[in-house]
Amino acid sequence: MTMEVVLLGTGNPIPDRDRAGAATLVRAGGRTLLVDAGRAVCMRLVAVGVLPVMLDVVLLTHLHSDHICDLNDVVTTQWVMSPVPKTLRIIGPPRTTEVMSGLLDMLRPDIEYRLAHHDDLTWGPQTDIAEVTPGAVFDEGGLRVVAARTDHRPVEPTLGYRIEFEGHAVVLAGDTVPCAGLDELCRGADVYVQTVLRDDLVRMVPMQRFVDTIDYHSTVVQAAQTAARGGVRTLVLTHQIPTPGPGAADEWIGIAREHFAGEIVFGEDLTSISI
Ligand SMILES: [Zn+2]
Ligand SMILES: [Zn+2]
Repeated sequence: MTMEVVLLGTGNPIPDRDRAGAATLVRAGGRTLLVDAGRAVCMRLVAVGVLPVMLDVVLLTHLHSDHICDLNDVVTTQWVMSPVPKTLRIIGPPRTTEVMSGLLDMLRPDIEYRLAHHDDLTWGPQTDIAEVTPGAVFDEGGLRVVAARTDHRPVEPTLGYRIEFEGHAVVLAGDTVPCAGLDELCRGADVYVQTVLRDDLVRMVPMQRFVDTIDYHSTVVQAAQTAARGGVRTLVLTHQIPTPGPGAADEWIGIAREHFAGEIVFGEDLTSISI
């Protein structure tokens, strides 16, 4: 196995008992990367044997709450469980610094309580925050991460990531409609993970705020078309809107199948894809 992708959370913003919030783990070359940190991310990390202290980097696709709402839990748990000062590297779009500043302010009382209580804990959370724009994010030890601009307007800017290792590539698109940046990331990738929406179902819900979500998410058809254009090997459907009921997988895969001949994975929490 060269690379592993684990869907930690496949849920959308509406709470669900079986689906945690948006978060995906990528392991390659002895490194562990977390992409987004939605609801219950720490519980799902532990389920695959990863404690926050074991993360090498956290990549954020965008700053919508459902993708970052448990980032504070990652920060606190990483800090409290580190026997020595350990820096948590967080990479995201512009305004990530602003979000992290507010997050650390919110944690201030907790940080003070723990520093006062534990004699051996003499440092606060150590974070290294980098705001990135489209282009190369880093290239270390054969692991390369590239970001491209995606289209989730009016949420701007948003990023998708392509993670490459030993000739293989995984794309974490985040929330986006089809666009040139996404096509660029997907070209020849092994795995393309896309947050998706069924517009046929969402249109039937008599609530405008819900129908509005059609504007800025890829439909299942669009995700399949992007996968086909990019010649990817495996399309992974995640963050499904609306939340699918039991046994819905075949229907969602069937819709994608009309536009994409490769492997299609219907994401459930802890679905793992190996390359
Ligand atoms: Zn979003
Ligand atoms: Zn989302």
